[in-house]
Amino acid sequence: MTGGGPAVELAAAVRSGERHAVDALEEYLAAIAESDERVHAFNHVMTDQARAAAAAVDEVVAAGRDPGPLAGVPVALKDNLCTRGVPTTCSSRILDGWLPPYDATVVTRLRDAGALIVGKTNLDEFAMGSSTENSAFGPTRNPRNLDRVPGGSSGGSAAAVAAGFAPLALGSDTGGSIRQPAALCGVVGVKPTYGVVSRYGLVAFASSLDQIGPFGATVGDAAALLDVISGHDAMDSTSLPSAPPSAAARLTAGVEGLRVGVVTELTTVEGIAPEVVARVRQAADALAAAGAKVEDVSVPAAVYGLSAYYLIAPAEASSNLARYDGVRYGLRVPGVDITEMYNKTRAAGFGAEVKRRIMLGTYALSAGYYDAYYGQAQRVRTLIIRDFEAAYDTFDVLLSATTPTTAFEIGAKTADPLSMYLSDLCTIPSNLAGHPAMTVPFGTGADGLPIGVQVLAPALGETIMFQVAAAIEVAGRAQEAAVR
Ligand code: GLN
Repeated sequence: MTGGGPAVELAAAVRSGERHAVDALEEYLAAIAESDERVHAFNHVMTDQARAAAAAVDEVVAAGRDPGPLAGVPVALKDNLCTRGVPTTCSSRILDGWLPPYDATVVTRLRDAGALIVGKTNLDEFAMGSSTENSAFGPTRNPRNLDRVPGGSSGGSAAAVAAGFAPLALGSDTGGSIRQPAALCGVVGVKPTYGVVSRYGLVAFASSLDQIGPFGATVGDAAALLDVISGHDAMDSTSLPSAPPSAAARLTAGVEGLRVGVVTELTTVEGIAPEVVARVRQAADALAAAGAKVEDVSVPAAVYGLSAYYLIAPAEASSNLARYDGVRYGLRVPGVDITEMYNKTRAAGFGAEVKRRIMLGTYALSAGYYDAYYGQAQRVRTLIIRDFEAAYDTFDVLLSATTPTTAFEIGAKTADPLSMYLSDLCTIPSNLAGHPAMTVPFGTGADGLPIGVQVLAPALGETIMFQVAAAIEVAGRAQEAAVR
């Protein structure tokens, strides 16, 4: 077992002076120049800034100082993370021309760790979607098959890592937007415990659910990135004050004696393809063979996750997106008076899915309906938390499918929002609970496209979650080698 991956290896080579950050960066920029026209992972490539940052890292090494744990590693950022003076669009027309006056905390931490920000990646507008087709700038394509979606909403970040445009990327996950595209693109994606990573500078979608998290080609790379961005931040009032758990601490510890539960409601329910269920079972068997105690477990309220989410997330979104009114940010379409200006700006600036969410959320919060919809959804949320906590009395971690199927065709679900929403069936419960969860690639489907297995853990259980994910990664590779 190794604890690394391309990012960890590159950082070690740059720190030791064996490789120059500027040279490594040029290889990644060349890959972007060569293929991103077809994939469209990026909204904006920060070539000059990345080159300057790489040269600065090489100077620090030459001066005999430590450039940091991610020295010289290119990182792609979802375009809803604020970068000072660099366009941050959320893939929406409404932010046309807006330049953030500050960096998100995660961006500052990346720079301090010696990482190179290479660009801003495409997403579903304001992170609302599961395919990256709801972007004002056109869809991203899955690098493993250009006719398929990369998943969403962080599809650009997942595609950037899968295509080799950057060894690492950051996304945001409100209902699955890191894990779902990671699974469909065949990379590792992590939603940390709510409060472990600062949300300062993440453009808000649903504030009680949003978390920033890493993408990497391997479990070890994702762990290294999470360890750099996690930790308390006074600028985010929901940031946890305690020291964050280490993601990388036990990657090679194995799973002997650990208790693993396979969640019935998130694995064998209608709609999840048999080939996906089979991969979850194989991963569970591999853990059992490595010494874990594996059993099925029921988390009954998990089945209500999707319904509760589609009240809570739009409700919070309708409130968060009220600020885009043509006065302070980006686009303004003039009108005869201020009401007409608001109306014209919002009509022109937002896409159809964002408008649908704002309307649903406004309705759910309106007087007379508040308790029946929003209040009821919050009570369901409490039930979900309780059921997961009960499962964690008996199990250290849980396993499930990440997505119901492999990547679907571009255009297959755009006309039917409900079928699109079902893509996040297995990922949403962890956001409602605030617990961490991650996806690891484990084999492929009949179409040759990747399948991900989801590892879920209790709040602040990142160390053990990564430990189990690393064991699944090793088993998956051994299986692949045996097939060849
Ligand atoms: N696909 C879900 C939605 O559309 C989740 C999005 C996310 O996690 N940002 O809301």
